[in-house]
Amino acid sequence: MENKKYICPICGYDGLEEPPYDETGLGSYDICPCCGYEFGTGMFYEKTLGKYVNAVKSEDEKFFKECLDLWVKSGCNWFRKENKPRNWNIKKQLLNTGVKEQEIAGLLEDYLYDGPIATFQIIDYIDVERDYSDMSDFEQESCVGFFDNMIDFWYPEIENLSTCFNKVSRKETGLNRWGVTIFPPQSLKEFYRIVDIKTPEDTPQKENLLKLIKQAQEENKYLIHYGV
Ligand SMILES: [Zn+2]
Repeated sequence: MENKKYICPICGYDGLEEPPYDETGLGSYDICPCCGYEFGTGMFYEKTLGKYVNAVKSEDEKFFKECLDLWVKSGCNWFRKENKPRNWNIKKQLLNTGVKEQEIAGLLEDYLYDGPIATFQIIDYIDVERDYSDMSDFEQESCVGFFDNMIDFWYPEIENLSTCFNKVSRKETGLNRWGVTIFPPQSLKEFYRIVDIKTPEDTPQKENLLKLIKQAQEENKYLIHYGV
């Protein structure tokens, strides 16, 4: 059976079941499950964008770019939230639209500074058998917050980093994006490099996180990330 998927020309989602437009430019009238645009109509669905885009003369590249800007400004919400992959990465998806890699951070500026804040903390005394997914012992004053949406930019490099999920005995690679990740001391040098190079904007949060990683490295301690 044919299992070819197609790309949304607006948001770059690459899991469309049907081509959004045929060879003659006629829209499929399907709705992108990600951005909520209906191909062929010049319209978004209200729950994604908060408003309809007025019918246009033609759905050309320039118009798609305007639609992308609108969608990004409204917070990159999914039309069908149940279709949103656990490991969804907006940066990777936008590369499908032809936006240049170096332009993505600028395009996403509002989005990057919005949304939830992930937290990082040094574990003073590591207990290798303890499950750290319980946040009750979490010390608010010694943690560093970081814009969760910016973490998308650490991929793909972060995927190869040796880490542990929830407890030290559970060895994994990469980030337990919405869970708990523990960085062993031997991974901190590489983690520092990824955060330093891949974070798209120089913010106080970035500076504080780099400082925290360096401190953990110097003290030979584990670092923990609580995803959101
Ligand atoms: Zn889309």
